Amino acid sequence: MADYAYNLDKLSSTLDAGHLVEVRESPRKGLGLFARETITRGTRIIAEYPLLKAVTVSSHGVNVLAAFHNLPPFKQQAYLGLHEYASDTFKEENDWESLSDLDRRVLAIFAANRWGRDVFWLASQFNHSCIPNIHNAHNPTIQMETFHSIQEIEAGEELTVSYIAGICARDERQAQLKKWGFECKCPVCQDTSDDNKLEQNFAQIAFLSQELKIAGALPSKKTLDAFRRMAGLMRSTGLVGKYLHNCYLDAAFCSAVLGSAQMAMLWTEKEVEVNDYCLGKDHLDCQKEVRVMRQLRSAAKSKRPFHYTHISWVLDWDQGPE
Ligand SMILES: [Zn+2]
Repeated sequence: MADYAYNLDKLSSTLDAGHLVEVRESPRKGLGLFARETITRGTRIIAEYPLLKAVTVSSHGVNVLAAFHNLPPFKQQAYLGLHEYASDTFKEENDWESLSDLDRRVLAIFAANRWGRDVFWLASQFNHSCIPNIHNAHNPTIQMETFHSIQEIEAGEELTVSYIAGICARDERQAQLKKWGFECKCPVCQDTSDDNKLEQNFAQIAFLSQELKIAGALPSKKTLDAFRRMAGLMRSTGLVGKYLHNCYLDAAFCSAVLGSAQMAMLWTEKEVEVNDYCLGKDHLDCQKEVRVMRQLRSAAKSKRPFHYTHISWVLDWDQGPE
């Protein structure tokens, strides 16, 4: 604890609000990050450089071990202080029996804490929730990984991110989490009753998303309606990060293809708001989306015929490391 307190103070900088959080025991989860005081939505809580950076995502073992052995001793020491877990699948992929104890530990720490090919020191303390209150993304302007609050967080509340890909029903979420060796006990997973409204919302969002995928999400009034319903379900579930952003983006694009600059502008305004609190205004994607919003505003006011190709859409939004 003393080490963490020392390092947290040292890590606080003008680039983030690290002083607002502390590392302490989280019931049944080991260590976790907690709010020291109320944190408003959109706060950049952590901006961090990787402690360890593997060269590529494939051939983890070789890359990760080389990256670790090239670190200066104080960074190796910090790395070895992180939580470790390796699933049976991960062990099989990495020829576990042939490795030394140290190399196994290095790889197990990588498996438990990696964001894409990077391991961060402080951000490794985030525990998982299916309804996270933190969003992470790489910010190319400052060349750091940022972690923003996407909800208002009360003093004493735990800060969480989602470890899993996509919005899916409980069984699939728990299956994905086996990689980290735990069963999620977040409020939505803990309520196993049939009238668990939040879980029903998850299932409905997953269903709608699948339907749209099957339909190829070709812009039509029907797909626009599906995006509208998904966005409503996400908001009422508390899923207010990247998936809500993507839903607004799809709805904006769909509206524009259907010929309404006005509707596209309204969806884009919502999208910009989510982007701002997820990424921060200094992120290039936020700046690009503000440009799209301005183009749509002027198109909505103009008397000239509107076509969606008049707009410089941002369709490759940074969703953070895989
Ligand atoms: Zn959960």
